[in-house]
Amino acid sequence: MLVLRKMSEVKQKVAEWKSSGKTIGFVPTMGALHQGHLSLIEASKTHTDYTVCSIFVNPTQFNNPTDLSRYPKTPEADMILLEAAQCDLLYIPDVSDVYPKPSTAIFNFGYLESILEGEHRPGHFNGVGQVVSILFHGILPDKAFFGSKDYQQVMIIKSLVRQLHLPVEVVSCPIKRENDGLAMSSRNTLLTSEERKIASLIPKLMQAANDIVISDGIDAAKEYVNHRIEEQPLMKLDYFEVCDADSLNILSEYNQKRPSVSLIAVFVGKIRLIDNWMIT
Ligand code: AMP
Repeated sequence: MLVLRKMSEVKQKVAEWKSSGKTIGFVPTMGALHQGHLSLIEASKTHTDYTVCSIFVNPTQFNNPTDLSRYPKTPEADMILLEAAQCDLLYIPDVSDVYPKPSTAIFNFGYLESILEGEHRPGHFNGVGQVVSILFHGILPDKAFFGSKDYQQVMIIKSLVRQLHLPVEVVSCPIKRENDGLAMSSRNTLLTSEERKIASLIPKLMQAANDIVISDGIDAAKEYVNHRIEEQPLMKLDYFEVCDADSLNILSEYNQKRPSVSLIAVFVGKIRLIDNWMIT
């Protein structure tokens, strides 16, 4: 695996590959890699000829400075995992390579950035737009692979690609979960062992809420989730909503003819975790 720290070098290598008619897959990450990330590398390897991964903790998408400073960093372990996964190129830059000057780009994601993560993390999606547009413009991958764990983010990236007319296919991949159902996340490593045990309640609540949405409706499911989280002194609910799976419109009534998804953000101690669940 090639490990490059400069976008100019990445561009050169990718151009070389492209000139021999090969396709490029791209997996952007913030590192502290787990099986969720590796499933994206695997998808990229299946669908393209060369796989580029980036590890960059993008400061502009953090609306909370403490979240940024405590974000886990494990570059050595990450490189071993990526090497074993047969990733072809790792781009692991400093902030100054991605942002030679601070980005002034402002995106308009409309309704999509006014709800859920957009509402609860002001500026977050603009920062995501800044870094992903820089990475896409530099690397110009044929396909880019994202996890549906960040359901709203995938929709934001699709909107970004449409707005900028980028020739990149955005591929959404399934959520990887731990044995107890907790969605894998780099932030899980920041939980104490007690918090980690309690966090396994999240997928259980999502599963139970799924059944309540179908049997008793969305309000009943919300009440249930609220109540169950209030019982937990170490947990605090940021939001729980049921949305139209295509538009992300927040629903008050469930229509079984339309695909719907429930989305949650919850603090476990000081760590904020997100998850989502297709209603079936
Ligand atoms: P991050 O490093 O958290 O920015 O995530 C990088 C990419 O990995 C994003 O596209 C995430 O949606 C994806 N990802 C994170 N966790 C998971 C998971 N548990 N399953 C699948 N993809 C994931």
